[in-house]
Amino acid sequence: MGGLVLRDVTVRYDDLVAVRDVSLALPAGAVLAVLGPSGCGKSTLLRAVAGLEPVASGAISYDGADLGGVPTHHRGFALMFQDGQLFAHLDVARNVGYALRLRRTPRAEVSRRVGELLELVGLAGYADRLPATLSGGERQRVALARALAVEPRLILLDEPLSALDATLRTRLATDLREILRTAGTTALMVTHDHDEAFAVADRIAVMRAGHLVQDGPIGEVWQHPVDADTAYFLGYATVLTGAEADRMVSSAGLVPGQDLALRRSALVVDDAGPLAGTAISALATPEQLRVGVEVAGLGALHAVAPLGSHVAPGDAVRLRIDASRTAPVPRGDPRVSP
Ligand code: ADP
Repeated sequence: MGGLVLRDVTVRYDDLVAVRDVSLALPAGAVLAVLGPSGCGKSTLLRAVAGLEPVASGAISYDGADLGGVPTHHRGFALMFQDGQLFAHLDVARNVGYALRLRRTPRAEVSRRVGELLELVGLAGYADRLPATLSGGERQRVALARALAVEPRLILLDEPLSALDATLRTRLATDLREILRTAGTTALMVTHDHDEAFAVADRIAVMRAGHLVQDGPIGEVWQHPVDADTAYFLGYATVLTGAEADRMVSSAGLVPGQDLALRRSALVVDDAGPLAGTAISALATPEQLRVGVEVAGLGALHAVAPLGSHVAPGDAVRLRIDASRTAPVPRGDPRVSP
């Protein structure tokens, strides 16, 4: 199997261990998002893969060849950062073709390839523009085209969308996925944003405090978070534990003996539902009504109701559980049920 392999990689800054014993495989052609809160070590991990930080112990290899001692510019990897870092005095075409010209690629070939790349990132017709005349999203597209120009065997993306506003971020995340798939590039992206990870990647690795806590295909990680902290980090709104989880699990007919993570939309207002509660808030969104419900013994929970439903604070409501919007979480310490 080709691709990137990390074996027990540890990276230190003097006494601080920023990455501890991380083992991870990224098959050629796959897109992996390393997801974790700020300071968990994900940029350090990416920099170590790039050869910008020395590895204190462990090994990094690509296509079976050890990268220890291989300098950054001989790894065949490309890097793209948050702010793109375009050359301000060069137009878009010259930015994208920069590395090709350095390699003394014939002019006609550079121009053909630049045209192809601008097409790929949705910027055909932008060749003569200067970076200062572009929007943030357009600049990141140029940076991406520039990174792909040399056909890297691996592209490393460090929070590539985080400098953009929310709407643009969502659109560019979907485009980024398409562009990476079309180019067939192997990619490792670090991000603290789970929506971004889900939109772009097909595999995910969750880091916390320097450790890799879980990795696998996105759907698997999503459906089976290893612990409550990971579930929250993946965007689950509530994790019920112990007796509370048991109560919900038995109401929903789910497998007992595990804790239960709930998305905001896991509970649905439904007169025939098994749980009874009292609405404490109601907020209409374009898709649905979001309702806060106090359930005896379980506290305040998020629920949703179809648009057009009439639910007001103080109303008695019944809830059903949409099992597809929940995930079992392995129970940590054994708990004593009351
Ligand atoms: P993330 O990318 O997840 O936000 P980083 O990899 O940037 O995390 O940082 C991991 C830890 O290493 C943090 O505690 C951070 O303060 C520390 N760190 C990062 N870069 C350096 C550096 N150049 N020198 C010393 N400590 C650093």
